[in-house]
Amino acid sequence: MTQEDLFKSLIAHAKEYGFIFQSSEVYDGLSAVYDYGQLGVELKNNIKKYWWDAMVRLNENIVGIDSAIFMHPKIWEASGHTTAFNDPLIDNKDSKKRYRADVLLEDYITKIEEKIEKEIVKGRKKFGHKFDEAQFRETNPNVLRSKKKAAEVTSRMNEALGSNDLTAVRQLIIDCDIACPVSGSRNWTEVRQFNLMFSTKMGSVSDDTNLIYLRPETAQGIFVNFLNVQKTARMKIPFGIAQIGKAFRNEIVARQFIFRMREFEQMEMQFFVRPGEELKWFEHWKEVRLKWHNAIGLGEDKYRFHDHEKLAHYANAATDIEFDFPFGFKELEGIHSRTDFDLAQHQKFSGKKIQYFDPETNESYVPYVVETSIGLDRTFLAIYASSYCQEKLESGEERVVLRLPAFLAPVKLAVLPLVKKDGLPEIAKKIMDNIKIDFNCQYDEKDSIGKRYRRQDAIGTPFCITIDHQTIEDNSVTIRYRDTMEQERVSASEVRDIIEKKVSLRTVFAKL
Ligand code: ATP
Repeated sequence: MTQEDLFKSLIAHAKEYGFIFQSSEVYDGLSAVYDYGQLGVELKNNIKKYWWDAMVRLNENIVGIDSAIFMHPKIWEASGHTTAFNDPLIDNKDSKKRYRADVLLEDYITKIEEKIEKEIVKGRKKFGHKFDEAQFRETNPNVLRSKKKAAEVTSRMNEALGSNDLTAVRQLIIDCDIACPVSGSRNWTEVRQFNLMFSTKMGSVSDDTNLIYLRPETAQGIFVNFLNVQKTARMKIPFGIAQIGKAFRNEIVARQFIFRMREFEQMEMQFFVRPGEELKWFEHWKEVRLKWHNAIGLGEDKYRFHDHEKLAHYANAATDIEFDFPFGFKELEGIHSRTDFDLAQHQKFSGKKIQYFDPETNESYVPYVVETSIGLDRTFLAIYASSYCQEKLESGEERVVLRLPAFLAPVKLAVLPLVKKDGLPEIAKKIMDNIKIDFNCQYDEKDSIGKRYRRQDAIGTPFCITIDHQTIEDNSVTIRYRDTMEQERVSASEVRDIIEKKVSLRTVFAKL
């Protein structure tokens, strides 16, 4: 199965089992907006809890807030979003399809890089055990040519985008001979800037003075509350403020399922530090955040850093943690050293002093900020896609199993009476009533036990217990493990502890 087919089947699976639905589906859907179903919301909540507790509970110097989506419109002037939160867009005149010009160029560079990797594979095949990859990369003429080309395009792209020279961006697309993937033609319009913020009107008067925006990031809600939190919680620098919340962006090209949405959720933490110490903290948070990802257990090779060459106007260092999605390595989290830009801008635009008095140095200053900003929906996709497996069993049967990390699974335990009589359902319900206080459980008495196991595999339930006639005699049950499909007989009173050991955040936090 190709990666593309696999991706399609996991999207279908997400719908079939109640993880994710297209928004407004009965009206043929709303593009790039999704609803989380009964299991999706559980998985999402578990991810949120993992992030929140790792930030706010484990770090005594980080506290959380929940700021409003609507904010004073001046905030977006101060932050630069009204003027600079743009994507350069270009249309193909034949297909009428719209693209982000920077994405067309980035895809082009990725293709060159893939060509280099193909040369390496060819070289390895040709030279066998004598193959010296480092030397090959330094000397092979095809590799060198491609490397030079990629570097040239990257540098021209960064310069054109950095100086907002849209004519140069278009020229580069033409020079690279980039064709529209739909029409195959090179008949491009000019490149234009497109602001990504959604706006609406507040109050009853509909004139432009009431124009407000749906926040495109949660960060600004943290910045404008900096003094409120610092004073009321008596926080001393360095300290952080964390927040999980919705953000809205009118993305031009919204595709790849929940990877790029118009309404999505972010989990952000702004860490306030002494000026001059920001790069030390930037390195610190890079390391801490990567550990957080690795502790999920999807495999360390699935993550990589991508340091930014072209820095945003407010940043003096920036990196992305990229994840190996079914469509390649793409940004999952951004870590940015934002200098004092945001607080200084709000100080300027509000006319109010936003400073911190440092009792250790006896100085007042505008703190510097290191931000960690991760997309909740992208994290969901990373976990969900990496867990989705179609397996052929030894018996020749096939099963679809979501190998979700047990601590994140929406349902931890399925309680299954072998038959619907002889008092087994009553015993099963009694066991479940006791365990459901601690963990999300599902009761199922319909169909054969094999079918019920398959249903639980498909939603990623790590444990199933079966209640049979022996349970009546000795209170023992069969526990079945999702990944190995092994079964063992245990006392019903042990089940809670067995699950606890496998799903507790304590075990995951020990790896941080
Ligand atoms: P991209 O380059 O992919 O558009 P970005 O650099 O604009 O992302 P940030 O502004 O750094 O993203 O936002 C922080 C995080 O929020 C991203 O790493 C991503 O996980 C998430 N995110 C951003 N835009 C979207 C979106 N449209 N849909 C879902 N998640 C998003």
